[in-house]
Amino acid sequence: MSKKIYLYGNWKMNNTYRETEKFFEEFPGVYEPFKNDAGLEVGIFAPFTSLWPLSQGAKKCGIVFGAQNVYYEPKGAFTGEISIPMLKEYDVTHIILGHSERRHIFFEPDEMIAKKTKAVLEAGMTPVFCYGETLEERESGNTFTVMERQLKAVLDILTPEEAAKVIYAYEPAIGTGKTATPDQAEEVCKWSRELIGNPKVVILYGGSVKGSNAKELLSMPDIDGALVGGASLKPASFLEIYGAYKG
Ligand code: PEP
Repeated sequence: MSKKIYLYGNWKMNNTYRETEKFFEEFPGVYEPFKNDAGLEVGIFAPFTSLWPLSQGAKKCGIVFGAQNVYYEPKGAFTGEISIPMLKEYDVTHIILGHSERRHIFFEPDEMIAKKTKAVLEAGMTPVFCYGETLEERESGNTFTVMERQLKAVLDILTPEEAAKVIYAYEPAIGTGKTATPDQAEEVCKWSRELIGNPKVVILYGGSVKGSNAKELLSMPDIDGALVGGASLKPASFLEIYGAYKG
């Protein structure tokens, strides 16, 4: 495979500060295989409270690291929120936004996710913008209507230059146990690339990516990488995805 591949792990609400420290103590060389692979970018996205030990471990391994959310205002009366300047002090460069769990459990609206994406770009950081339909929306034939709404909300407020810097992550029906087939994932990623209007944008697929399905998904022409949840928590399963991609 000659295209550059992105392998991003979303730890979600897993791995405390101490567990993250322990992770890198127990597996100091865990990401070493990735280090000298110019065709691959590996990233880990941890809870805010684990960012410090993650940053130390990730810097040693030469991988990207980031947060899973941020608020768009730089400071003020926003109880419970974390700002971009706060994350910058941890050297965070990448931030996941609009994950399906943020949309469906915490009811984050399209407009808020769009504003967050714009603010992250204006701060010189990289947003990993997630979008995708729920199982119900797919089954009722609304996949493309929903995604068009989600994507347009953000594209409407970005310049074409900004839109080109976003890493897009298509994540359908997460948490339902049903995952898209490689052909379904490819169809949506291809359609998204056309809607975004830039053939060069990076589009990841997320949804139960593991060693057994990684190769097929990553071989699809419009899928540039994977956003991995569960399988990123254990070094063995994350490395299995890398092995599948290399093999
Ligand atoms: C996710 O929700 O970001 C995700 C891709 O999860 P999983 O790989 O566990 O389906």
